[in-house]
Amino acid sequence: MNIIIFGPPGAGKGTQSSYIVKKFNLFQLSTGDLLREEINKKTDLGNKISSIVNSGALVSDEIINKLIENVVANDKYKNRLIFDGYPRNITQAENLTKLLAKYNQKISIVIRLKVSLDIIKKRITGRMVCSVCGNTYNEFFNPPKVDAICCKGNNLTKRTDDNVEVAVKRYETYEKSTEPVINFYEKLKLVKEVNGEDKIESIYSKIDQFLSVIEG
Ligand SMILES: [Zn+2]
Repeated sequence: MNIIIFGPPGAGKGTQSSYIVKKFNLFQLSTGDLLREEINKKTDLGNKISSIVNSGALVSDEIINKLIENVVANDKYKNRLIFDGYPRNITQAENLTKLLAKYNQKISIVIRLKVSLDIIKKRITGRMVCSVCGNTYNEFFNPPKVDAICCKGNNLTKRTDDNVEVAVKRYETYEKSTEPVINFYEKLKLVKEVNGEDKIESIYSKIDQFLSVIEG
């Protein structure tokens, strides 16, 4: 099976993907990794990508598609792909459909992790760190036993930061840009929504159920 996983920044998509990869023996395809690998290989294409990235421009869909085709065409990864952070727009989604079809493959399921902006904010603003042992807590989701105190009576510190504003921006940008892509897959009846506000294990077991049905 080939999977796409969608989820806003801070939804725990990375954690879930790595569980899925292990359990179902999949290959995680991230466009960022593909670009970095190509640059490191110092191929002609890699050098071209390097100069585009260094100039601050965006790498074209054409180049990304080329890199993805290299993976899709490889028998080693046939029907074993999990797409993370791709496709980002309708053009890429359409291209992916064509590309997979060319190699007798398709997307089996699209997992959509849903987390509200409020929860994302609390995950950031509630975070507390112990300066002695490095334990992290969260005021809302994982509070320390004694208020604001960890080991050896050490006070926990909250980072006063403006990270929230950045996170809100990233969330909104994500939602806006992903919506049409989600709609694209909804029309194909491939989207399964998973509540990303649950405990990590609960989220995983939900995803596991969906995937096991396809595998079985
Ligand atoms: Zn501590």
